[in-house]
Amino acid sequence: MKLVKFGGSSLASGETFQKVKDIVTSDPSRKIVVVSAPGKRFSTDNKVTDLLYICHAHIRYKVGYDDVWENIANRYREIAETCKLSIDVEEMLTSVREGMTRKSTVDDIVSRGEYMNARLMADYLGYDFVDATEWLHFNYDGTVDFKKTYEDLHSLALKHEKMVIPGFYGTLPNGQLHVFSRGGSDVTGALASAALGVECYENWTDVSGILMADPKIVDDPKPIKRITFNELRELSYMGAEVLHEETVFPVRSANIPLYIKNTNDPSATGTLIM
Ligand code: ASP
Repeated sequence: MKLVKFGGSSLASGETFQKVKDIVTSDPSRKIVVVSAPGKRFSTDNKVTDLLYICHAHIRYKVGYDDVWENIANRYREIAETCKLSIDVEEMLTSVREGMTRKSTVDDIVSRGEYMNARLMADYLGYDFVDATEWLHFNYDGTVDFKKTYEDLHSLALKHEKMVIPGFYGTLPNGQLHVFSRGGSDVTGALASAALGVECYENWTDVSGILMADPKIVDDPKPIKRITFNELRELSYMGAEVLHEETVFPVRSANIPLYIKNTNDPSATGTLIM
């Protein structure tokens, strides 16, 4: 069993959803799918998570936010339409919007990007939607309650052979939602991988692995085929942006191989981190 995590740029539109489905279905062992919220489709586009932070600010200052919300809603409508999904997307959007009140915390609101994307992806793949609230538990200080988290996901996996899980959030002991820092879906993927003891954790993004040089400075650098977690940590420290070593420590301690792969070029080798 493999766990595959797709970042926001891999889930930004109906077109990229189709690429994701091709990747998942091309290998029957890809049974656990972790998703981010829709990211940018082009450089001047907005990430849904950023728009949700803006909604929260508007709600807090009692300013209307219909335009921002429509922008968000249209992203999901486009995906549902392009992929001909059977899920009632309007009903989902209405209930999420109704949940966004003065009482909602910022974490409640910004988590909805991943929540809605996971609902759509589960429908598209025909996998079960398993909410992060059912298994990803935080302590009050924001650290992860590993024992409870691992046990709960393990029991869920006995009931759901194939699942789509939203990244980025979980719950505090009182049931309130809590999010990781930005980019936290990588952590969700790593925790789920470690909990289930998967064969490997594939982290799908928009570059063919970790590169030998910064592509903003050097044209077309080659990807690094294999790297250790220690080397990854040094590279992150020096500014490499693909993945931070500290976000994936659960797979490191469980000794699970981690691959960085490119959704737009699935046959490229990518980078193996071990
Ligand atoms: N959607 C969240 C963010 O934009 C989390 C993630 O994508 O990993 O930071």
